[in-house]
Amino acid sequence: EETSASSTLHDNDRLLGGLLSPAFDKHSCRSRYASSLYRRRSPFRPFAYLVERLRRYEALHKRCGPGSALFDEAVEHLRSGRNAARSECQYVVWTPFNGLGNRMLALASTFLYALLTDRVLLVHAPPEFDGLFCEPFPGSSWTLPADFPITDFDGVLTMWSPTSYKNMRHGDRISNATAEQSLPAYVFLDLIQSFTDAAFCEADQQVLAKFNWMVIKSDVYFAAMFFLMPAYERELARLFPEKEAVFHHLARYLFHPSNDVWGIVHRFHEAYLASADERVGLQVRVFPEMPIPFDNMYGQIIRCSEQEGLLPKLVHTVVTAANGSSAVAPGGSTTLTSILVTSLLPDYYDRIRGVYHASPTETGEYVAVHQPSHEREQHTEARGHNQRALAEIYLLSFCDRIVTSAVSTFGYVAHGLAGVRPWVLLRPPSPVARAEPACVRSETVEPCLQALPRRMCGTAEGSDIGALRALAPGRARDHEVRRGM
Ligand code: GDP
Repeated sequence: EETSASSTLHDNDRLLGGLLSPAFDKHSCRSRYASSLYRRRSPFRPFAYLVERLRRYEALHKRCGPGSALFDEAVEHLRSGRNAARSECQYVVWTPFNGLGNRMLALASTFLYALLTDRVLLVHAPPEFDGLFCEPFPGSSWTLPADFPITDFDGVLTMWSPTSYKNMRHGDRISNATAEQSLPAYVFLDLIQSFTDAAFCEADQQVLAKFNWMVIKSDVYFAAMFFLMPAYERELARLFPEKEAVFHHLARYLFHPSNDVWGIVHRFHEAYLASADERVGLQVRVFPEMPIPFDNMYGQIIRCSEQEGLLPKLVHTVVTAANGSSAVAPGGSTTLTSILVTSLLPDYYDRIRGVYHASPTETGEYVAVHQPSHEREQHTEARGHNQRALAEIYLLSFCDRIVTSAVSTFGYVAHGLAGVRPWVLLRPPSPVARAEPACVRSETVEPCLQALPRRMCGTAEGSDIGALRALAPGRARDHEVRRGM
């Protein structure tokens, strides 16, 4: 009843090869078991060990999560301002920062960190984030309760915060020798746009492991860093033998749009995409700090499309038949291609739609062009805006071919969920310069890294860690120039 796609899938497919727990009520979160029906089958299957670890994690979350006696006890310790010497449960609290794409990359990374360090993942969900996603862990919640002792996250957790790990370490206030009970009640890991001075050397991890409460604020895919750490190498190789699918599996496990958001996705899909034979997603993100004029960006999209054969080709010279009427399309094909444009601006959609109205395609195939919304500006503080953004990330992830804008985490999440290697519209050197080439095919389904790791554990400052050990999944590329804050 849910979708026009086949609903006769075997349970194993419905549960994404065991990735999803069957323990949920399907009506409370319709997207959980339905969204895979809207996509081509994923080329990546989760390995049995990942499935086993997820079930183990779910049991831990139930035992230690909100509502449990162990949780109340741990919160009491947090309130007391001192770290407990021994604690059965340890926690990592994620707090949001930046746009939705950034948030999803950081949240998925935090979950992987929780898996690797046996912590329980909790989410600080301010009103604009609350209710976007379903609960991911059966029989428990990942949302911090209303009476949680830390309330003013934005005010307390800044780069100057005395509980920031960086600041504690630079002030020589903690070391490996510090006893558990002499530590503050929680440690703040500030991982905004920087992997580096952070916390990913062996010695750091040993100190961090002593804290029962940790809060992480980040806007990047820092999961890639764990692949550079010898301590996690073995476990990661067992969890993710296919390094290309780390985010793909984590995101499909963790992120399920709430029923409200799924309503938007479902209605749009049925009305505009379901009947298409081929779906092409085009994400056009024009950043405020790189205000590329419309003609340049549009020209780049067309160059990319021609170079890679992405959008259906138009008949260029309009042939006029002897009787003066316009010739019909030569091909005779009756297939339908839907182009899904997502952008804050309506201009690209308008132009592309107009072009396909005006001329037939070479093959005669029909082309429909759609854009779900055009919000003009980013409004991460508004819940309805974020719901539409999430819906569009999902709709993009249903496309067979995906064209994204370089440096945009919105696009990374979409192609990561899809398990599709995108064509990336490269960022030009300046707003009016020409990007050359117009686009490249990504080598991976993983998100790109937005900053090169600068320094790691005894390595000389400035070393390219990615080149030293080509282990990290989403390798940084030259075109992924670091974005200003
Ligand atoms: P990034 O800035 O491109 O890395 O992506 P983020 O998702 O982190 O932040 C951009 C935000 O702007 C999104 O979360 C949306 O709120 C908004 N936005 C950007 N592009 C689109 C779009 O195509 N559709 C919608 N609905 N919102 C968008």
